[in-house]
Amino acid sequence: MKRPTVLVVEDEPAIRRGLVDALRFAHYEVIEAEDGRVGLDRAVGAEVDLILLDLMLPEIDGLTILAETRKARPTLPIIILTAKGSEDDRVAGLQGGADDYVVKPFSARELLARVDAVLRRSAERPRAVEQIEADDGRAVSIERREVSLADGERRSLTDREAQILEFLAVNAGRAVSRRELLERVWGLDARRLETRTIDMHVARLRDKLGEDKTAPKFVVTVRGKGYMLGEVEVK
Ligand code: CA
Repeated sequence: MKRPTVLVVEDEPAIRRGLVDALRFAHYEVIEAEDGRVGLDRAVGAEVDLILLDLMLPEIDGLTILAETRKARPTLPIIILTAKGSEDDRVAGLQGGADDYVVKPFSARELLARVDAVLRRSAERPRAVEQIEADDGRAVSIERREVSLADGERRSLTDREAQILEFLAVNAGRAVSRRELLERVWGLDARRLETRTIDMHVARLRDKLGEDKTAPKFVVTVRGKGYMLGEVEVK
Protein backbone atom coordinates (compact mmCIF):
# COMPACT_ATOMS: atom_id res chain seq x y z
CA MET A 1 0.00 0.00 0.00
CA LYS A 2 1.11 3.53 -0.77
CA ARG A 3 2.55 5.43 2.17
CA PRO A 4 0.25 8.20 3.36
CA THR A 5 1.27 11.75 2.45
CA VAL A 6 1.03 14.40 5.15
CA LEU A 7 0.97 18.12 4.36
CA VAL A 8 2.62 20.16 7.11
CA VAL A 9 1.53 23.81 7.16
CA GLU A 10 3.64 25.62 9.76
CA ASP A 11 5.53 28.90 9.47
CA GLU A 12 7.90 28.40 12.40
CA PRO A 13 10.96 26.74 10.80
CA ALA A 14 12.11 24.85 13.90
CA ILE A 15 8.64 23.44 14.60
CA ARG A 16 8.14 22.59 10.93
CA ARG A 17 11.42 20.74 10.87
CA GLY A 18 10.49 18.83 14.01
CA LEU A 19 7.17 17.78 12.48
CA VAL A 20 8.70 16.79 9.17
CA ASP A 21 11.48 14.79 10.79
CA ALA A 22 9.10 12.91 13.08
CA LEU A 23 6.76 12.07 10.20
CA ARG A 24 9.55 10.97 7.86
CA PHE A 25 11.02 8.86 10.63
CA ALA A 26 7.63 7.16 10.89
CA HIS A 27 7.72 6.56 7.10
CA TYR A 28 5.16 9.12 5.99
CA GLU A 29 5.65 11.07 2.79
CA VAL A 30 5.76 14.75 3.71
CA ILE A 31 4.95 17.94 1.83
CA GLU A 32 5.74 21.26 3.53
CA ALA A 33 4.20 24.71 3.36
CA GLU A 34 5.78 27.67 5.15
CA ASP A 35 2.90 30.13 4.92
CA GLY A 36 -0.86 30.17 4.57
CA ARG A 37 -0.96 30.89 0.86
CA VAL A 38 1.23 27.95 -0.08
CA GLY A 39 -0.59 25.90 2.55
CA LEU A 40 -4.03 26.51 1.09
CA ASP A 41 -2.75 25.96 -2.42
CA ARG A 42 -1.41 22.53 -1.49
CA ALA A 43 -4.28 21.64 0.83
CA VAL A 44 -6.81 21.88 -1.97
CA GLY A 45 -4.55 21.11 -4.92
CA ALA A 46 -1.95 18.53 -3.93
CA GLU A 47 -2.46 14.84 -3.40
CA VAL A 48 -2.39 14.53 0.37
CA ASP A 49 -3.93 12.10 2.87
CA LEU A 50 -3.77 14.28 5.97
CA ILE A 51 -3.00 17.89 6.86
CA LEU A 52 -1.21 19.14 9.95
CA LEU A 53 -2.31 22.74 10.10
CA ASP A 54 -0.96 25.51 12.28
CA LEU A 55 -3.59 28.16 12.95
CA MET A 56 -1.39 31.26 13.28
CA LEU A 57 0.09 31.69 9.83
CA PRO A 58 1.25 34.58 7.66
CA GLU A 59 -0.64 35.38 4.42
CA ILE A 60 -3.74 33.26 5.07
CA ASP A 61 -4.69 32.11 8.57
CA GLY A 62 -5.25 28.49 9.49
CA LEU A 63 -9.00 28.76 10.13
CA THR A 64 -9.52 30.13 6.61
CA ILE A 65 -7.45 27.29 5.18
CA LEU A 66 -9.51 24.85 7.22
CA ALA A 67 -12.80 26.27 5.93
CA GLU A 68 -11.65 26.35 2.29
CA THR A 69 -10.19 22.86 2.46
CA ARG A 70 -13.36 21.47 4.04
CA LYS A 71 -15.41 22.92 1.19
CA ALA A 72 -13.18 21.39 -1.46
CA ARG A 73 -12.39 18.12 0.31
CA PRO A 74 -15.07 17.35 2.87
CA THR A 75 -13.50 14.15 4.18
CA LEU A 76 -9.77 14.93 4.14
CA PRO A 77 -8.36 14.41 7.66
CA ILE A 78 -7.06 17.64 9.21
CA ILE A 79 -5.27 17.99 12.54
CA ILE A 80 -4.76 21.52 13.81
CA LEU A 81 -1.74 22.68 15.79
CA THR A 82 -2.54 25.15 18.52
CA ALA A 83 -0.46 26.99 21.07
CA LYS A 84 -0.73 25.99 24.69
CA GLY A 85 -3.58 27.72 26.48
CA SER A 86 -5.40 28.91 23.35
CA GLU A 87 -8.62 27.07 23.98
CA ASP A 88 -10.58 29.43 21.71
CA ASP A 89 -8.46 28.40 18.72
CA ARG A 90 -8.95 24.77 19.53
CA VAL A 91 -12.71 25.09 19.78
CA ALA A 92 -12.89 27.20 16.60
CA GLY A 93 -10.78 24.60 14.81
CA LEU A 94 -12.92 21.68 15.88
CA GLN A 95 -16.09 23.59 15.05
CA GLY A 96 -14.54 24.42 11.68
CA GLY A 97 -14.26 20.73 10.92
CA ALA A 98 -10.81 19.72 12.15
CA ASP A 99 -10.61 16.04 13.07
CA ASP A 100 -8.30 16.52 16.01
CA TYR A 101 -5.81 18.93 17.52
CA VAL A 102 -2.32 18.80 18.94
CA VAL A 103 -1.14 21.39 21.45
CA LYS A 104 2.34 22.88 21.01
CA PRO A 105 4.84 22.00 22.35
CA PHE A 106 4.11 18.36 21.65
CA SER A 107 6.09 15.14 21.76
CA ALA A 108 6.79 13.29 18.54
CA ARG A 109 5.16 10.21 20.05
CA GLU A 110 1.92 11.99 20.81
CA LEU A 111 1.86 13.62 17.39
CA LEU A 112 2.40 10.32 15.57
CA ALA A 113 -0.22 8.57 17.68
CA ARG A 114 -2.79 11.22 16.72
CA VAL A 115 -1.86 11.16 13.03
CA ASP A 116 -2.13 7.39 13.03
CA ALA A 117 -5.50 7.42 14.85
CA VAL A 118 -7.01 10.05 12.56
CA LEU A 119 -5.84 8.22 9.43
CA ARG A 120 -7.27 4.97 10.73
CA ARG A 121 -10.63 6.59 11.47
CA SER A 122 -10.71 8.18 8.05
CA ALA A 123 -9.99 4.89 6.30
CA GLU A 124 -13.08 3.44 7.98
CA ARG A 125 -15.21 6.45 7.13
CA PRO A 126 -17.04 6.31 3.84
CA ARG A 127 -15.99 8.81 1.21
CA ALA A 128 -18.38 11.63 0.33
CA VAL A 129 -18.75 10.02 -3.09
CA GLU A 130 -17.63 6.50 -3.90
CA GLN A 131 -19.32 5.64 -7.12
CA ILE A 132 -21.32 7.39 -9.82
CA GLU A 133 -23.50 5.26 -12.07
CA ALA A 134 -25.45 5.89 -15.26
CA ASP A 135 -28.48 3.78 -16.18
CA ASP A 136 -26.74 2.57 -19.35
CA GLY A 137 -24.19 0.44 -17.49
CA ARG A 138 -21.38 2.97 -17.25
CA ALA A 139 -19.94 3.67 -13.81
CA VAL A 140 -17.15 5.68 -12.24
CA SER A 141 -15.35 4.64 -9.09
CA ILE A 142 -14.04 7.85 -7.52
CA GLU A 143 -12.11 5.78 -5.03
CA ARG A 144 -10.26 3.75 -7.66
CA ARG A 145 -10.13 6.64 -10.14
CA GLU A 146 -11.59 4.38 -12.79
CA VAL A 147 -14.35 4.37 -15.37
CA SER A 148 -16.04 1.16 -16.42
CA LEU A 149 -17.92 1.33 -19.68
CA ALA A 150 -21.05 -0.60 -20.56
CA ASP A 151 -19.02 -3.26 -22.40
CA GLY A 152 -16.78 -3.78 -19.37
CA GLU A 153 -13.80 -1.79 -20.65
CA ARG A 154 -11.99 0.03 -17.87
CA ARG A 155 -10.21 3.36 -18.16
CA SER A 156 -8.15 5.19 -15.56
CA LEU A 157 -8.90 8.75 -14.56
CA THR A 158 -6.34 11.29 -13.48
CA ASP A 159 -6.70 12.78 -10.01
CA ARG A 160 -8.01 16.00 -11.51
CA GLU A 161 -10.61 14.23 -13.59
CA ALA A 162 -11.82 12.25 -10.58
CA GLN A 163 -11.85 15.42 -8.48
CA ILE A 164 -13.93 17.26 -11.07
CA LEU A 165 -16.50 14.47 -11.04
CA GLU A 166 -16.43 14.24 -7.27
CA PHE A 167 -16.94 17.98 -6.92
CA LEU A 168 -19.86 17.95 -9.35
CA ALA A 169 -21.35 14.98 -7.48
CA VAL A 170 -21.03 16.66 -4.09
CA ASN A 171 -22.80 19.66 -5.62
CA ALA A 172 -25.37 17.65 -7.59
CA GLY A 173 -28.46 19.62 -8.46
CA ARG A 174 -26.74 22.92 -9.17
CA ALA A 175 -24.48 24.27 -11.89
CA VAL A 176 -20.88 24.82 -10.85
CA SER A 177 -19.02 27.66 -12.56
CA ARG A 178 -15.67 27.12 -14.26
CA ARG A 179 -14.13 29.61 -11.88
CA GLU A 180 -15.43 27.66 -8.90
CA LEU A 181 -14.11 24.39 -10.31
CA LEU A 182 -10.72 25.99 -10.83
CA GLU A 183 -10.64 27.30 -7.29
CA ARG A 184 -11.94 24.13 -5.66
CA VAL A 185 -10.16 21.52 -7.71
CA TRP A 186 -6.98 23.35 -8.67
CA GLY A 187 -6.71 25.54 -5.59
CA LEU A 188 -5.01 28.90 -5.68
CA ASP A 189 -3.06 27.84 -8.76
CA ALA A 190 -6.33 28.76 -10.42
CA ARG A 191 -5.24 32.38 -10.53
CA ARG A 192 -2.62 31.47 -13.06
CA LEU A 193 -4.93 29.30 -15.10
CA GLU A 194 -7.58 30.11 -17.65
CA THR A 195 -11.11 28.80 -17.38
CA ARG A 196 -10.47 27.10 -20.73
CA THR A 197 -8.32 24.66 -18.77
CA ILE A 198 -11.55 23.30 -17.33
CA ASP A 199 -13.11 22.85 -20.75
CA MET A 200 -10.09 20.88 -21.95
CA HIS A 201 -10.19 18.62 -18.91
CA VAL A 202 -13.92 18.13 -19.25
CA ALA A 203 -13.55 17.25 -22.93
CA ARG A 204 -10.98 14.58 -22.09
CA LEU A 205 -13.06 13.33 -19.19
CA ARG A 206 -16.12 13.01 -21.44
CA ASP A 207 -14.04 11.03 -23.93
CA LYS A 208 -13.00 8.60 -21.24
CA LEU A 209 -16.57 8.34 -19.99
CA GLY A 210 -17.75 7.51 -23.50
CA GLU A 211 -20.28 10.32 -23.29
CA ASP A 212 -22.77 10.95 -26.08
CA LYS A 213 -21.80 14.46 -27.18
CA THR A 214 -25.37 15.58 -27.72
CA ALA A 215 -26.70 14.05 -24.49
CA PRO A 216 -23.97 13.64 -21.87
CA LYS A 217 -25.08 12.00 -18.63
CA PHE A 218 -22.19 12.59 -16.27
CA VAL A 219 -21.03 16.11 -17.07
CA VAL A 220 -23.67 18.42 -18.53
CA THR A 221 -22.86 21.90 -19.86
CA VAL A 222 -25.12 24.59 -18.47
CA ARG A 223 -24.93 27.54 -20.85
CA GLY A 224 -23.72 30.72 -19.26
CA LYS A 225 -23.16 28.96 -15.95
CA GLY A 226 -20.71 26.09 -16.13
CA TYR A 227 -21.08 22.38 -15.56
CA MET A 228 -23.43 20.18 -13.65
CA LEU A 229 -23.80 16.53 -12.82
CA GLY A 230 -26.41 15.00 -15.13
CA GLU A 231 -28.81 12.08 -14.89
CA VAL A 232 -26.65 9.72 -12.90
CA GLU A 233 -26.83 8.13 -9.50
CA VAL A 234 -24.33 9.07 -6.79
CA LYS A 235 -23.46 6.37 -4.26
CA1 CA B 1 2.57 29.87 13.47
